[in-house]
Amino acid sequence: MSSELQLIHSEILECTKCELHKSRTKAVPGEGPYDARIMFVGEGPGQNEDEQGRPFVGAAGKFLTELLESIGLKRSDVFITNIVKCRPPNNRAPRKSEIEACNPYLQSQIRLINPRIVCALGTPAITTLMGDEYSASRFHGKPLKKGKVTFLPMYHPAAALYDASLKETIFHDFQILKQLLENRETLNTNAPKVAEPGVKKQTLEKWV
Ligand code: URA
Ligand code: SF4
Repeated sequence: MSSELQLIHSEILECTKCELHKSRTKAVPGEGPYDARIMFVGEGPGQNEDEQGRPFVGAAGKFLTELLESIGLKRSDVFITNIVKCRPPNNRAPRKSEIEACNPYLQSQIRLINPRIVCALGTPAITTLMGDEYSASRFHGKPLKKGKVTFLPMYHPAAALYDASLKETIFHDFQILKQLLENRETLNTNAPKVAEPGVKKQTLEKWV
């Protein structure tokens, strides 16, 4: 256990650096192994997360667990957090000033956990981690190595949950994550966007 990471998490629980602290029930620092190889970064806590103080515990979280299982991972294998740690009121998008105020926590988490791969879920997480020129629609499934970390942009599971075509896309992007983990040198991100037949059948039927 990293005591430095624990310290940051206790700081987050009491943080008042932006307006979002006023309406939160519980701040949501994130959870998972402190030496995880893979991190997932979402947009921000929703109602369930705010009540429980844990990330991705609602419908989007259930779908994220399903996506992880489609490539043989368990939720407890990965570290999960968000670009803002407190819930924006009525689930509005976090403001730039709030994202900026909170970003040092995210950057410290990445530095201390030192993952190989950081999956950015949805455009707000993608621009925060990779730069304003990136977006989910144009860059999903295209890994980008920056220093020691490979960033993998993806659609947000909440967006994919109710859209059959995005759902197929996000399952495919998890196959890219699997390939990255297997460290294939010949990663072809231009391959047709079709999930592996077994994966597609089992998992899509459940969600469509
Ligand atoms: N959506 C997010 O972006 N983050 C969560 O923690 C839950 C839902
Ligand atoms: Fe602090 Fe981040 Fe919560 Fe704002 S969102 S109060 S910066 S922990």
